[in-house]
Amino acid sequence: MTEDPSQKLAAQLEALRRDYAARLPGEMATLQALGERLCGMQPDAADLDELHHRLHKLAGSGGTFGFAALSAAARALELQIKYWREVGPATIDAATRQAFSSALAAFCRNHLDLPLPASQSSAPARPSAVGTAQTSWNVWLIEDDELCGRDLSQQIESFNFSVRHFTRLADAEQAAQEACPDLLIADIVLDAKNDSTLALKTCPNLSSCGCPLIFITSHDDFASRVRAVRMGASAYSLKPLDIPRLIRRMTQLLEARQAPPERVLIVEDDLPLAEHYRLVLQAAGVEAHCLGKPEELIESIASLRPELILMDMHMPRYSGAELAGVVRQHDNWASLPIVYLSAETDLNQQVSAMRHGADDFLTKPISDAQLVATVRSRVERARVLEGLISLDSLTGLLKHSAIKEAAARMLARARRSGSPVTVVMLDIDHFKRVNDSYGHATGDVVISSLATLLRQRLRTSDVVGRYGGEEFLVVLPECTAEHARKLMDDILESFSRLHFSHAQAPFTCTLTAGLASSADHPALDSEGLIEAADRALYEGKHGGRNQVRVAAASVACH
Ligand code: GH3
Ligand code: MG
Ligand code: MG
Ligand code: MG
Repeated sequence: MTEDPSQKLAAQLEALRRDYAARLPGEMATLQALGERLCGMQPDAADLDELHHRLHKLAGSGGTFGFAALSAAARALELQIKYWREVGPATIDAATRQAFSSALAAFCRNHLDLPLPASQSSAPARPSAVGTAQTSWNVWLIEDDELCGRDLSQQIESFNFSVRHFTRLADAEQAAQEACPDLLIADIVLDAKNDSTLALKTCPNLSSCGCPLIFITSHDDFASRVRAVRMGASAYSLKPLDIPRLIRRMTQLLEARQAPPERVLIVEDDLPLAEHYRLVLQAAGVEAHCLGKPEELIESIASLRPELILMDMHMPRYSGAELAGVVRQHDNWASLPIVYLSAETDLNQQVSAMRHGADDFLTKPISDAQLVATVRSRVERARVLEGLISLDSLTGLLKHSAIKEAAARMLARARRSGSPVTVVMLDIDHFKRVNDSYGHATGDVVISSLATLLRQRLRTSDVVGRYGGEEFLVVLPECTAEHARKLMDDILESFSRLHFSHAQAPFTCTLTAGLASSADHPALDSEGLIEAADRALYEGKHGGRNQVRVAAASVACH
């Protein structure tokens, strides 16, 4: 029998909580003994450090394991010790020490034998994603104008979506009993008295599909736009529709739901707490790792490539701010987001820690939902910024330097694992003629359509970039030359069938591709492999265009 993963996670979290509760009596006994010592003699700096460290840790972790009152009480005591550390132990008179010791003893008694609080609600889960191995996305179009709907369906279908057209909202609602679309496009005004921004509210089946929603409309008024937002619409496209732009938006929305898991590195000396964070994030679909030794921070970042670091502030040998400073010494990680996760409540300390290049400060104890939400939104923003830097604005594909770096990385990985990787250079045939005959703007539509087609046809592990004007570079991991040739033949065929329109005169375009596989060229580095693919492309151009050429295997020299 297979175990339900969410039950397994709940059990793991519960085990951590029980361990924590089981360790509390020992911790209370230690604290009480430290408090009693305080009564009898003037403490030295080391005594205060130890007391502070223990109380600080309890304040930061108690809430996470369900002991919110323990966190709050430990925090109050911690602040007292913190004050003494600042003014110096010699200034504390006997009466004050006595009072503190009694307060600490009361705290320890109160928390010696706590009932285990009821388990917290389970950690937030990842929103359901659309299937990853999908060959074409299912789009439902609700458009009451029969002709208009049919025309739009055809145009969307030429981008490899499958489209189901409904003229009545009620029919779509009925169909949603059986299946859900991956994306819903609806005309706002279905008929004179039926506004779909309102009517959709009465469709429980469609609403429960939870797919992205795009309104298409000729109404550009503020009230309609607000109603669309209230209905949860992800996009609002005005008629006459700009098809390539609509397709790009659709692709973005669908790909966002397939976004790879966020990668997070947790730097925290309290191991059960670190493990709790890791499990909660993992349950939410985040790939989280705990750093074992602070000295291995840079190596871990290089191998795990986290998109965010959650950094504790007070750790035994190094402070979080010091570790953040070390990260920032490395150019590669200069913009890696760092968020402090600390029981530190002193604003001055927080501000000073932020000076070392951190991005935010979360105060422990933090709820599971808040942790997940922070990680998601931080990583999403980092990805947007990264995209602006490395993605081409017309096509949304990797730019020249980014695709070359990706090719080098993927070839190195393939060589380590002994699997083949194939690189493909693609170039649109006689593209200058398209620009000359139909104008640059129409040329742009052709380029972005090819980009969309490539994203649709390639696997998520494949990488594609805009190498130059109308030239694309595709990197296919775990793919032989033979497989790549078949795939490219198929893509060439689909591209030649796309109908572009200009002033009512439809036209078509073709492509030429050259490819080279690492299996046939074991001595070449990624640069060499790209050059070999480029030479094959030019052979294809000279051989009549609209074809795929494979770079002949290199002959080994003796
Ligand atoms: P071939 O079949 O040999 O590849 O011929 P071609 O006409 O496609 O090749 P050539 O390299 O002579 O022309 C490419 C043209 O692409 C020239 C350039 O003006 C145009 N181009 C480059 N970038 C863009 C762009 O972003 N948008 C548009 N519309 N045109 C572009
Ligand atoms: Mg700590
Ligand atoms: Mg060309
Ligand atoms: Mg070219």
